[in-house]
Amino acid sequence: MSDPQSTSIDPAKISAIRSALGRVPHVNESCIGCGACVAISGTVFEMNDDGMSIVLSCDSYEWLDVDDAIAACPVNAISWRNS
Ligand code: SF4
Repeated sequence: MSDPQSTSIDPAKISAIRSALGRVPHVNESCIGCGACVAISGTVFEMNDDGMSIVLSCDSYEWLDVDDAIAACPVNAISWRNS
């Protein structure tokens, strides 16, 4: 049986996890206002008065279907950025 005290975590994995937790979705100017991202993740995305998607402020963007919204966007306007 392994000693739990001897378990080490790869520093590169820790860095990747920290980076993922700090990431924020971004909508660029190619948005055509189709509303798909809002339908998929209304907690994160909202249409502004100009009919373009904007990102709402959230404590964390994990587990809020952002990757599904990214995949559904017909013009690839959504991406992750590090905060
Ligand atoms: S899915 Fe893409 S094109 Fe449609 S509203 Fe969202 S960002 Fe804009």
